[in-house]
Amino acid sequence: MKPDLQQKFTALFNQPATRSFFAPGRVNLIGEHIDYNGGLVLPCSITFGTNLLVAENKEGIFRFRSLDFEDQLDIPMQGAYTKKGKEWFNYPLGVMQQFLLHNKQLKGLDMLFKGDVPIGSGLSSSASIEIVTAFALNETYQSGFSKLELVQMCKKVENDFIGVNSGIMDQFAVAFGEKDKAIELNCDTLDYKIVDCKLQDYVLAIINTNKPRKLSESKYNERVEECQTALKDLQKELQIDNLCDIDTATFNKNEGLIENETVKKRARHVIEENDRVKEATHVLADGNLKRFGELLYASHASLKDLYEVTGKELDTIVEFCKTQETVAGARMTGAGFGGCAIALVKHDAYDDFAKKLTRYYTEKVGYEPAVYHSLIGDGVKEE
Ligand code: ADP
Ligand code: MG
Repeated sequence: MKPDLQQKFTALFNQPATRSFFAPGRVNLIGEHIDYNGGLVLPCSITFGTNLLVAENKEGIFRFRSLDFEDQLDIPMQGAYTKKGKEWFNYPLGVMQQFLLHNKQLKGLDMLFKGDVPIGSGLSSSASIEIVTAFALNETYQSGFSKLELVQMCKKVENDFIGVNSGIMDQFAVAFGEKDKAIELNCDTLDYKIVDCKLQDYVLAIINTNKPRKLSESKYNERVEECQTALKDLQKELQIDNLCDIDTATFNKNEGLIENETVKKRARHVIEENDRVKEATHVLADGNLKRFGELLYASHASLKDLYEVTGKELDTIVEFCKTQETVAGARMTGAGFGGCAIALVKHDAYDDFAKKLTRYYTEKVGYEPAVYHSLIGDGVKEE
């Protein structure tokens, strides 16, 4: 338990915390715009995360505090909880609501959150706070949920309680992540494999474009529809449920079934990207970061040229990375149009990389990016 957090907990609640939990944020290393096409993604947990300290109280009250937000909530035990505006404590409240929906008893609890996942940057601070809460409640009340059940409950929090229509990858990565490992997750079946992902003398640079969010949602829905059209066209001859049910070779033989040229490009991205994830898993197991880096660049090129979801900001970052000998590979991560890119950068060159990239990007784009570095850290745990 971190002593400074324990001190703050005691000052806030007049009693010491009895247990301390941690859940990380996540990045998706490769496999983009794949989740809604029933294919493979390869996320990992990062070393940024959310701490949660707890102690039961005898008053039957739930007290939520966060060192990152001013607002706080004291709420008595009740049969159901509803969302309160746009408050941060909706995330833990939504998790409590899930426990109630599963008929689990809750008892008064004091909770203090402190995170260092950059918020709203696409590193899933939301899944981090959801999973750390669910894991802590499960341990404290001995509710007996499996990790997968907690993941599914937290996805429901995000979809039903918060109202964000996202897939299951984020919660999955935060819960099942492991140090120096990535998770190859099949988004259709939820089968997963923990795979070696030693970064050797590299770090994971995470670069936020800081581009204001706009338009991305309609473009996102457009891509989802294009993939559905491609699937329908292919189903005229092929017995498949998802685009990712076929590999690139099969696609090459059957692409003529797709009438629209744009739709054809979208499908090619999805199917080749899915194959890239498979290759990535193998080359990582062999410790071949050079090839892994090439796959990152290839993924970005495909998202730029075939899927058309990158934009000037993300392209500028990857363009810069390509000029740097100390970078093995880079690509956009997340839905695109803005958000973050990742790059594999030699550890001892990171500071220089961050400085030069910031200068280059600011000159080209007109405002600064935010650059972080991370390793692949543990998934949710008690500390
Ligand atoms: P992202 O998941 O990309 O970081 P979201 O908008 O989905 O962005 O989730 C961010 C929200 O999650 C924050 O606005 C806040 O409500 C909640 N949150 C995340 N971390 C914390 C924290 N340490 N303390 C309190 N609330 C948090
Ligand atoms: Mg989120």
